Amino acid sequence: MLVLCFFSTGLALAGEPPNWGGNYSPCARHDDWLRREHMDLGLRIATRNTALARQFERAMEFWSGIIDMDWHEVESQECSVELVEGAHNLFETQGIAARAQEPDRPAFQGWVAFNPASKLTEHEMFVISVHEIGHLLGLPHNPSAASVMFFFNLDDSIWLDAADLKTLAQRHTLRSGVFAVGRGTARRVITP
Ligand SMILES: [Zn+2]
Repeated sequence: MLVLCFFSTGLALAGEPPNWGGNYSPCARHDDWLRREHMDLGLRIATRNTALARQFERAMEFWSGIIDMDWHEVESQECSVELVEGAHNLFETQGIAARAQEPDRPAFQGWVAFNPASKLTEHEMFVISVHEIGHLLGLPHNPSAASVMFFFNLDDSIWLDAADLKTLAQRHTLRSGVFAVGRGTARRVITP
């Protein structure tokens, strides 16, 4: 079974270690991810994997339908998010496909690293991209396997359950018409 990503649990408290780092170009506009109002995010593609870049862009489109955000591609350090090829040391735990930095921790640069050693289908690239961007938006892992923020397994559908949407609404502005229904049941917001 594929492990989607490595992401520490719990809130980032004072004294906790900073984000993972590496020899990647910084993003001057990484604080854009902390905005509650409309976000205009600059995406920098720093991978030669064109299939991954395309699926990551589709994932940005997915989130643009959920959150009040737009995005555009940039080729400079005026980025909010950067898609990078992760170095080996980021993936010492076997089977980790990707990891995102945490916006509430120190040394946040908006980096999302994919493991070049993971052989992923394009659908997996898309789902994992949605998941990692969810972390940039402040979502932790969700214990429900129905959520795209579940930490492993891949499903044909993208779901955000009530817990995901509640957390998102505390940090960002949801698009109108995006809501969860029922008692803790997930509403399908999109099918890729
Ligand atoms: Zn994760």
